[in-house]
Amino acid sequence: MRRLAWLAAFVLAVATLASPAAAQSLACRRGQSFEQWLAGFRQQAAAQGISQATLAAAAPYLTFDKSIISKDRGQGVFSQSFLEFATRMVQSRMSSGPAQLRKHAALLARVEKDFGVPGAVIIAFWGLETDFGVNNGNLPVLRSLVTLAYDCRRTEMFTEELLYALRIVQRGDLSPAEMRGAWAGEIGQTQFSPSGYFKYAVDYDGDGKADLIHSAADVAASSANLLAKGGGWKRGEPWLQEVRVPAQLPWEEADLAIKHPRAQWARWGVSYADGRPLPADTMPASLVLPMGRGGPAFLAYPNFNAFLEWNQSLVYATTAAYFATRLAGAPQVQRGPSPAPTLSAQQILELQRLLARDGFEVGKLDGKLGLATRAAVKKAQLKYGVPADSYPTVDLIARMRGGR
Ligand code: CA
Repeated sequence: MRRLAWLAAFVLAVATLASPAAAQSLACRRGQSFEQWLAGFRQQAAAQGISQATLAAAAPYLTFDKSIISKDRGQGVFSQSFLEFATRMVQSRMSSGPAQLRKHAALLARVEKDFGVPGAVIIAFWGLETDFGVNNGNLPVLRSLVTLAYDCRRTEMFTEELLYALRIVQRGDLSPAEMRGAWAGEIGQTQFSPSGYFKYAVDYDGDGKADLIHSAADVAASSANLLAKGGGWKRGEPWLQEVRVPAQLPWEEADLAIKHPRAQWARWGVSYADGRPLPADTMPASLVLPMGRGGPAFLAYPNFNAFLEWNQSLVYATTAAYFATRLAGAPQVQRGPSPAPTLSAQQILELQRLLARDGFEVGKLDGKLGLATRAAVKKAQLKYGVPADSYPTVDLIARMRGGR
């Protein structure tokens, strides 16, 4: 789940692993109807400072839409590899991206001066999220949120988001009719969650409203503000650089939770992708191997955290960061000497069960190769005596099945 803005637009249908037991929305409400629940929610909203006028304006949209539930239940599992995803998402935007960078050059220069975030980074998210405002989504946000809040899967989160959406209306940024977006309630050209919108949206064109649906200036500045304030972006620092790794490395050091000075990576034989030596300086960096030690390799700097704050999926975050480097002039990524085959969602699910069996903390058994599963894979690799690059292979699954 994305923390500031969130996933959904990038859910890729591959294999649906949702359990049939999930479809129990009325049962978990102990028979409480939508109307009964809504009456309680309206009281809760009023107690939190939402005015009766705002609630009245919102009322026509506070209705249950079962097609939203179907969309939520039908989410596929994200199981494309970094190279598959990045190739698909970035190559198709290598003409529109630079064109938008030129079109908004003056605005982006002003945004970088005010917030410290380079235009290439803004354009990367803008393109990946909605193709520069082409695919914002056109569903009433309040209706989606009230439906997902009534549903039992993530009640607490969507109730909170619904309250934030009402606060946006109350602040006067968007009317309930204008507030249309993606099915899970994301709003605007960079798909902000309502809470992200309320906290970080900025009126940058001076019309008195933070309007992330219609105003390019507001979109660019708000996205930069979110990355700076929510993601801790540091002005003037890099975020990601492609590197080349040697055949031998203490692979367990390749971990987002571990940072070493660039000089240390250089001593271990890591170089820039074109073979030039890394600067032997103190800049802290993590080595990211999104497809394991035989695939593409990157140094991720402290600014990479802002990409993970935007979206916790390592594949999405690395793709967005890589796209931004391309827009800033970096060449196309190399495949690496021997990228490991991508495991299917079913294989990852089996792996998660084996990891759980062995006592490793994998989080939800969902068939997704998330950060928690990668961390558990590393522990299993160390236990089974194979290179601990946090990337699962069929060989690891076979060893774990056999308990050797
Ligand atoms: Ca504005």
